[in-house]
Amino acid sequence: MWRKLRIAILLLFLATAAYTNWYDRLSTTDWDETLWIGVFPINAGGSPSGADYIASLATTDVADIEQFINSEARRYGIAIDRPVRVDIYPPVTEIPPQHDAHGNVFSTMWWSLKMRLYARRNSHPAGRAPPQIRIFVLYHDPSFTQEVPHSVGLQKGLVGVVHGFAQRSMTRANNVVIAHEILHTLGASDKYDPASLAPLYPIGYAQPEKQPLYPQALTEIMAGRYALDANNFEMPESLADVRVGAATALEIRWTRPE
Ligand SMILES: [Zn+2]
Repeated sequence: MWRKLRIAILLLFLATAAYTNWYDRLSTTDWDETLWIGVFPINAGGSPSGADYIASLATTDVADIEQFINSEARRYGIAIDRPVRVDIYPPVTEIPPQHDAHGNVFSTMWWSLKMRLYARRNSHPAGRAPPQIRIFVLYHDPSFTQEVPHSVGLQKGLVGVVHGFAQRSMTRANNVVIAHEILHTLGASDKYDPASLAPLYPIGYAQPEKQPLYPQALTEIMAGRYALDANNFEMPESLADVRVGAATALEIRWTRPE
């Protein structure tokens, strides 16, 4: 009896998750009304300077993310006035569950379940509508941390965890990573070689038809880097030099297969 009940609960949970994933994918990529995206800052190291940086953040500090996505959407023919809006939400104190990058499929499933519950618990500030897409940004104090863990964005759960730096001069570079993870939540895939970090040609190039091909001046958002030549790749300083490539546009349904 107890075993049957457990199986029934598990099946119900899986069916609910499958339905939610299907519904989320449909509702976030139909581009017929504004998609609400929330950026939730977290003071990763708990330092006073990190707290000061987070306290100084305003929606104007993420305005270039909204502007980037909306102007690229327009370029691909999305007709609504404001495809996305991006707002800063009040800081969150709970640290997101850690993902074991070397874990097995069950540890990843367990982590993604914990991540969904975490996002639900922490994305409903009093008096404000919760956004559809939740990006939790752990700001690290650069005087303690030079290297930060990998950021992630999950389409299943519409949630991202970004690692950035709690420093004014890094705000625009942080926003490039935030925009990359937002597009993951919309179904975009990475377009770089994980071993060499080289952008994949042609899908990871913002100017695949440029003559001569090198140096590229613009970055494809899901490649994360642009190629100076065949072996040297740089990260862009801001979203001003970043574009959404044709393959990414197809994945997030700005365009349809021919
Ligand atoms: Zn990625």
